[in-house]
Parts: sequence; C-alpha cells; structure tokens
Amino acid sequence: AKEAGRSCFKFYRDSMNATAAIRLQLEQDLRTALKSGEIVPFYQPQICAETGNIVSVEALVRWLPAQGGIIPPDEFIPIAEETGLINDLGLLVLQHSCKQAKQWLDQGHRIRVAVNVSAHQFRQLDFTQVVEKTLKECNLPPSLLELELTESVIMSDAEENIKRLIELKNLGVTLAVDDFGTGYSSLSYLKKFPIDILKIDRAFMCDVNSAPDDIAIVEAILALAKSLKLGVIAEGIEEAEQIDILKSSKNLLLQGYLFSRPLAAEKITPLLNQNFTH
Ligand code: C2E
Ligand code: CA
Ligand code: CA
Ligand code: CA
Repeated sequence: AKEAGRSCFKFYRDSMNATAAIRLQLEQDLRTALKSGEIVPFYQPQICAETGNIVSVEALVRWLPAQGGIIPPDEFIPIAEETGLINDLGLLVLQHSCKQAKQWLDQGHRIRVAVNVSAHQFRQLDFTQVVEKTLKECNLPPSLLELELTESVIMSDAEENIKRLIELKNLGVTLAVDDFGTGYSSLSYLKKFPIDILKIDRAFMCDVNSAPDDIAIVEAILALAKSLKLGVIAEGIEEAEQIDILKSSKNLLLQGYLFSRPLAAEKITPLLNQNFTH
C-alpha cells in the first residue's frame, strides 16, 4: 500500500525542481490536506540514556493521503514554507502535539513533546501568544512542551530573537537548538540565550565509528553542554555502538531508529511502558 500510495504522489518528489504547474497542484493539494485531516504528526521516542525510559517524543509531520501511503515532510515542507502554509501546518502540529501530550498525561505518562518551529512561525509577531493559547486550550503543563529551533533561525536576528526566546522561556516551555553544530554561528549566543537543550545533528552521529573528526565534534558538544549545564539529545542513533561514545554524559537523551522510527500516536502509547536499556 505504501508503494502504491507513494506512486500517486511521485510527481511531488523533488518538488523544488518541479514545474510551476506541478508546484501549484501540490500547493492546492496541501491546502486541502491541511483541512481534511490528512496532515498529522508522527512521534519519535527520545530515551533517557541512564534509565532507558521514554521521557519525550519529537513530533514529525506526515501527510497521509486518502489513497494510502505516507508522504515525508521533505516533500512538502519546502512548498509549505514558500507559500506561507507553514504557519497553518505548524499550528496544526502544535495543537495535535499538545492535545496528545495531555492525553498521555491523563493516562499517567508524563511525556514531553518536542515540536519543530520553522523560521516563518517563529517570526510571527504573536507566536508566543499562539503557544500560550494552545497550552491553555489543551490544559497542558508548559514544561511538557518543547520547541525545537534551528541554529540558523535563532541567529537570523539574534537581538530580536533573544526577546522572543525569553518570552517563550517565561511561559515555562523547554527550548532546544536543533541541528546543533551545522550552523556557522559563534557559540557565544548559548550563554545569552535561554536555551535548555542541544540536539546533536544526525550528520555527526552517522560515522562516529569510522570518522575521528565526528567523534571530536560530538565530544566537544558534550563538554560544552556539560559546562553550560544544558541537556543533550543525540539524534540518528541507528546502532548501539554510536551510544558508546556518549556514555559518560548526564542529561543525555537518545533518539533514532535503533529505538523506534517515528510512529502514529496510537503506536507510541504501548511503547511508553517499555524500557529501552541498551
Ligand atoms: P529534523 O527536525 O532534523 O528531524 C529529524 C529527522 O531525522 C526526521 O526525519 C526523523 O525521522 C529522522 N530520523 C530520526 N532518527 C533517525 C535515524 O536513526 N536514522 C535516520 N536516517 N533518520 C532518522 P523526517 O521525519 O523525515 O523530517 C525531516 C525534517 O522535516 C525534520 O528534520 C524537520 O526539519 C522537518 N519537519 C518535520 N516535521 C516538521 C514540522 O512539524 N514542522 C516543521 N517546521 N518542520 C518539520
Ligand atoms: Ca527537529
Ligand atoms: Ca535535527
Ligand atoms: Ca535536520
């Protein structure tokens, strides 16, 4: 079913290079999909390295077309960003995620949910209010919401953004820097900004067995996080060996296919009682 579903949408692949007509079609279909409930977040567990328990999940958006199959975000996020639909999409993911975290909480699972925030969304003047309103509507404790911002978004207008980040921090949400280490920014912003967590980019975790440079970078990030008292999430963990170089550190969460792929909410729920001691 997955293959069949995908082939219907094959022409979306590589949408950035597609013709104007195809892009327009994609935009229209995405607009419809946002209304019809075909766009939903999947969730990927983040496991505490010390205890093996799931402490949080990352919301990763998926398009589930009526025809079947799953369209990954790389095939529609770029168009969403270009057309401004990313704001609607982002709000939808935020609302779903907060509702889901509240549902898990009511079932006795204190799981934080991490939501990706695009540059567009973050720059909306009322973004903090939107987050505050959503938390209230869902009756979710703010500490159970984490916002993931990339380094490039944070650094795009550092002076303005620091105000925004402090506003968000004051709501009580957790702030994570996504794809950490891939930007070109100075590290000094980490001291100024109210950041809680660094997410080590998957690119650095890929070859830690073979590439000494990547090990050096990962170790440097761990040391930096330790001295600044920040949490660390290592993403893209596919093999147990990748965990070895991370072992010593406290406040470490692990995310990757080794533990679980991103899954629909109902498939995550039974995993919440599971222990992932490696
Ligand atoms: P990201 O935020 O860096 O998300 C991590 C990506 O790595 C996800 O891809 C996830 O499925 C994948 N991944 C996790 N563990 C492994 C692993 O062990 N091995 C490998 N090879 N990959 C792993 P995904 O779900 O396709 O998302 C791609 C990107 O799309 C995300 O990268 C993020 O930038 C964007 N995205 C996803 N959902 C949203 C959303 O709701 N809003 C926004 N603005 N962007 C989103
Ligand atoms: Ca992310
Ligand atoms: Ca990432
Ligand atoms: Ca990424």
